[in-house]
Amino acid sequence: MNITELTVHELQEKLKNKELKITDITKAYVERINEKEKDVQAFVTPLTEEATKQAQDIQSKIENGENMGDLAGIPIGIKDNLCTKGIKTTCSSKMLENFIAPYSATVVEKLDDENMIDLGKLNMDEFAMGGSTEYSYFKKTKNPWNLKKVPGGSSGGSAAAVAANMVPWALGSDTGGSIRQPSSFCGVVGLKPTYGLVSRYGLVAFASSLDQVGPITKDVQDSAMLLNIIAGHDEKDTTSSNRPKIDYTKCLKNDVKGLKIGVPKEFFADGINEEVKQSLKNAIEKYKELGAKIEEFSLDIANYSLATYYIIACAEASSNLGRFDGIRYTYRAPEFKNLKEIYKKSRSQGFGAEVKRRIILGTYVLSSGYYDAYYKKAQKVRTLVMNEFNKAFEKYDVILTPTSPTVAFDIGSKSNNPLEMYLSDICTVSVNVAGLPGISIPCGVDKEGMPIGMQLIGNKFCEETILNAAYTFEQAIKFRENYKPEFKNS
Ligand code: GLN
Repeated sequence: MNITELTVHELQEKLKNKELKITDITKAYVERINEKEKDVQAFVTPLTEEATKQAQDIQSKIENGENMGDLAGIPIGIKDNLCTKGIKTTCSSKMLENFIAPYSATVVEKLDDENMIDLGKLNMDEFAMGGSTEYSYFKKTKNPWNLKKVPGGSSGGSAAAVAANMVPWALGSDTGGSIRQPSSFCGVVGLKPTYGLVSRYGLVAFASSLDQVGPITKDVQDSAMLLNIIAGHDEKDTTSSNRPKIDYTKCLKNDVKGLKIGVPKEFFADGINEEVKQSLKNAIEKYKELGAKIEEFSLDIANYSLATYYIIACAEASSNLGRFDGIRYTYRAPEFKNLKEIYKKSRSQGFGAEVKRRIILGTYVLSSGYYDAYYKKAQKVRTLVMNEFNKAFEKYDVILTPTSPTVAFDIGSKSNNPLEMYLSDICTVSVNVAGLPGISIPCGVDKEGMPIGMQLIGNKFCEETILNAAYTFEQAIKFRENYKPEFKNS
């Protein structure tokens, strides 16, 4: 048995049957990280030694008859913008290179409460701004399917680590696609929950009205299991919604008969790669075979979502990143003459180019004279986007689109062209603008064997519907059984 190829629910099965011990699992993952990390470069802070000790500790408690819970000893990887008490949280930025949070994010506490084991903090685009993980200050993560390609971003470390079997599952964050797009590039499952379902407390803020934490997993059942852990009301997050708890694994029925799926034609227009389109068309046919009702419709406002997203995200980022001032917990320039110079030099030296670009753009759209023309306008369009989705959900249960217009692109091919990079978010951003849940699952590969992702969008708090739709498709095409990353190097 190859332990690191198993999903978490498979691991749980084997633990229950006593085929495996907690310590076997962590040992297998530590060995896998030691073998693959030099190629994939997914970790900013690996915690292999700490994890090994923790596993031994949990194992002996279990042997002493303590009830540690169903997920005790299951390892996980955490995106490096989620605060972890006592362990560095860098956001892949020089600004936070040595930052150790004095508290853990609520989602991290929830993992700790389950006695799960943190295998390490995972690489990302600096402050989650980007779509390829090339904007990390520390390293460029590689795509396990082809090491010459990007893993996507900004949660590229999380998606690559799951795809490379270096962690069984991981947490990412998604402001405009950062869970779904890297999941699609790496052939894994990524879920961005409804805004407000998962606490943002302790997630280093990028754009607070768009950010959500979510699971990146090998399959849909694991996604539902991890959502069970992290979802729920948190009084430390004022935007957290207070709803009854749901067991998301219960909705996985493997049945989509009668499910109404809307396919917006704007997401199949010219900018979308032909092989991606073809793969999605095959997926639609599969859903028809499975008994779903498919209908094409127009989601016109989608054309304006990208501009709206970039104005709102940058505006909020410019405000959120004001706290990195060189005075408190951040990088401070070694030489300065006065207070103003501390700010100026620390921020100039501590932030990378993409982050600066967004702060400047955000400050501009919020400044007097431009506020009405850009920021206020964007907020109005945001309402229109929400309205149009509301209308669509009167007719459909699920909206089906590609996750990204292309498969994973070559490292270096877009990093000097911000606009090109922004355009690769075209399929995902409207979901955040409207606060909806969206899941990306693999639906095929292109001629070069690179994974293609399908996105299923649901109405607010209808995670169960998209999880079941994703699960049913997954059971029908068995992607994981048929395709595996090969760590190609050409
Ligand atoms: N790629 C998008 C951006 O650069 C989304 C980022 C994210 O979701 N964190 O803004």
